Formats: sequence, structure tokens, C-alpha cells
Amino acid sequence: MAHRSDIDNYLRELLAVDRFRDYGPNGLQLEGKAEVRRLVSGVTASLAFIDAAIEAGADAILVHHGLFWRGQDGRLVGWLKARVARLIAHEINLFAYHLPLDAHPLLGNNAQFGRVLGLQADQTFGDQDLGFIGPAGAAGSAAALAAQVRASLQREPLLVPGDGRALRRVAWCTGGAQGHFEEAIAAGADAYITGEISEPQAHLARETGVAFLACGHHATERFGAPAVAADVARRFDLEHRFIDVPNPA
Ligand SMILES: [Zn+2]
Repeated sequence: MAHRSDIDNYLRELLAVDRFRDYGPNGLQLEGKAEVRRLVSGVTASLAFIDAAIEAGADAILVHHGLFWRGQDGRLVGWLKARVARLIAHEINLFAYHLPLDAHPLLGNNAQFGRVLGLQADQTFGDQDLGFIGPAGAAGSAAALAAQVRASLQREPLLVPGDGRALRRVAWCTGGAQGHFEEAIAAGADAYITGEISEPQAHLARETGVAFLACGHHATERFGAPAVAADVARRFDLEHRFIDVPNPA
């Protein structure tokens, strides 16, 4: 059992929250009951996830995508009101960590996604050092890398092949990090893996010869939150469960 503020303080330090410029507040986004026994982790604080956490008897939830983002107009109406109302009614604490959860060198989305794919970074790159890059390892070609993703995630990646070169270095960044493709190329990547693709990346892959793999925003970000929550649960002797609410995006 732990007081919510002890969990908040522990995670602020563990995830080096103060180092990041982010699109939303990292940490305790919504205050619930003071004492936490049962922690439920997930990718996004969607209504379906919140309902599943209530069902599981959560005192606190820990997610990658919380409820509050820069650019929101500040009104608590509609879907946002529904999510907040449910959490307040059940006095559930909401802990949310965005970029700090991507970046943690061992427990973060990038590190854990790399582990699932059999990739280990020896360097970071790009804005706030969010990108990971390391040796290609077993995957000698873009097609082999795509096969590795397919087998690890049970999901077909979208592959824009580069120039067919042998892979020496692979870069990756989970979620919607297609905008970091050029930084990955500059860092020496022969292939770049992320969650999503936008129109320009297909041309960049063809014109630079660096392969691009879009493997799903949700699919690539399923690994950080449970790893961090498991660490918190060990530290404070909490019950922990990860609940995955599948998302095709
Ligand atoms: Zn994300």
C-alpha cells in the first residue's frame, strides 16, 4: 500500500519528468483516494480502459496517454466529462506520463519495444533524445525486419522499402514519431521503425533509400506503461495488472 503522493514523487524521479518539454502534464493528472493498493496500467485513459480498471478494482491507473493535452479548450464536456466523471465517482487516481515514459532507458516504450523486437540501442538521437538507434542484429534486410515486427506484434507492419541495402543500423521511436524520420536518417539509420506514417515519409524512404516501417501507434506503445507500473508495484508492494484495450491505429 502507498500514499498517492509517494507514488507521484517516486515516478517523477524515476522518469526524470522535469527534464522534458511535453504536450501535457506528466504525473498525477486527477486525484483519487489517498491510499493505493491496486494499480492498473494501460496505454490510453479511454472510457473503455477506465471501465475495465473500475471492474478490476483499481485505486490508481497509470497510462501513457492521459486526459489533458495542450490545445484543448479547457471545457469539461462530452467524452472528456464522461471519463473524468467515471474516475471521480470511483476515486481513482490517474497517473499519466507521455514523453518521460517513451524515453526511460530501461522501462520506457522505446527500450521495451526494442526488447520485444530484439533490438538494443547504443545511442539516442533527435529532439530531447527521444529516438533510439542500435545495431540491426538478426534482421539483415528491411523485409526481414518487417517479418520480425510481424512475429513480435502479431500485426502486419506497413513497409516502405528503401533501396534494398543490407541493414547495419536500425532506429526506432514508438507512437506517432513519423516526424522524426529525417533525424533518424541523419543519425545513420538504414531503417526506421515507428507507429504511424504520414504522406511525406513514403517519398523520403524512396528518395533516401532508408526503409520506413509503420507498426501501429498503439501496438508499439503497449510495453512501457506495464514495465513502469510493475516497477512501482514492486517498490510499494501493490497489486498490478496491465489491461490492453486493442486499437487498430
Ligand atoms: Zn503515443
